[in-house]
Amino acid sequence: MEPVTYSLKLSRTNTEEYYSDVRRFTDEVLLKTEESVTSIVNEYINYINKFKLEDVREKEEYILELLSFGILWRTYANQALSVKHAPFITLSKMGEWRKKHQRIKPFIDLSRGILISLFLLPEKLKQNNLPVPSLDQIDHVCKWFEATGEFREEAIRFIGWRAFWGTLDSTKHKEIFSAIAEFRNWFEVRSNAMLGKYTYNVEKFISDTRNKYRWREDRISCTRKQIEYHLNMVGAELMNRAFRKEFNTTDATALLLPGCMRARSKDECEAIKEPKGLKCIGCEPKCRVNHLRIIGTKKKFEVYIIPHASDLSLWSPKKGEPNRGVVASACVTTLVEGGWELKRYGVPAQCVLLDYSGCRKHWHPEGIQTTLNTHELERIIEKRIN
Ligand code: SF4
Repeated sequence: MEPVTYSLKLSRTNTEEYYSDVRRFTDEVLLKTEESVTSIVNEYINYINKFKLEDVREKEEYILELLSFGILWRTYANQALSVKHAPFITLSKMGEWRKKHQRIKPFIDLSRGILISLFLLPEKLKQNNLPVPSLDQIDHVCKWFEATGEFREEAIRFIGWRAFWGTLDSTKHKEIFSAIAEFRNWFEVRSNAMLGKYTYNVEKFISDTRNKYRWREDRISCTRKQIEYHLNMVGAELMNRAFRKEFNTTDATALLLPGCMRARSKDECEAIKEPKGLKCIGCEPKCRVNHLRIIGTKKKFEVYIIPHASDLSLWSPKKGEPNRGVVASACVTTLVEGGWELKRYGVPAQCVLLDYSGCRKHWHPEGIQTTLNTHELERIIEKRIN
């Protein structure tokens, strides 16, 4: 079957080859950073230490932040800088409200879709030639990122980097931004060679459905570029490495699955609503969520179905609860954002990609039941990946 945008399966029945490829390519990315951006990351870490801004995190996280900046800047800065006036604050608040108030989410999404297309995605772009971004431009683009609701976590992290860059002179800026641009260009070429076979349908999907998504709140999310898919694939692997030590100290595990993995529709599924999500009761033996629930009873992890754009702060550790780690599964376009959000709430997390996207709401008119690699899941849950 032709993938909607990406598929980790190729023509095979399992996705082991993908996991081997992405681990190999992530090693190569880390090696490349040694000659390109590691010195910038080290200087940033020194700055964080000097001003005691946060507990220093793993280096992989900062590398991912810098790579994300390079890719997202090149992809969206021109669009963002072409927008002079927009309800930035209202739009970013709406992005939060839709997570906290599931009942009025359809109304919020309808309004967001119109406002995003009207204000954030202008038809006419200023032909900005931006070899060295200025600090004011970075501020403006971060405001735009937050307003889209798609890049909130990235914007929070870029603002930290921007504060650091604000302490440096213009010669240093030039040096830093040309190193980031060079790293980004290298990543584009190498990621196409290593991961392009899993994402070959992305650009075709974008050109076939351009008009369909106009005025929809998921317009940006569903039209992400091929390089962004590769960024998120490597991002998921970098995050898993960065968060693993902490995750491996937890004594209980919850697996969070999207609704599109169910064999039945939302209305027919008999899962029971609980404060943190839906709990499967096994009403359909062939259902993949049920299959994972059964594995969970043997391997001692809980399974929850989490509707898209749920309030992940519900998972932040609380007194009286077990020291719980979370393994989240989602499609390539949303997984990294979710991982960063969980990190912000202090949740020890790991992630497993859906093998392909297929939910009815965003991707496919009839909906395709999604799935994940259970070997990868078991390796993570049994803490067998070092
Ligand atoms: S088996 Fe579980 S997840 Fe699947 S449809 Fe039934 S209750 Fe819902």
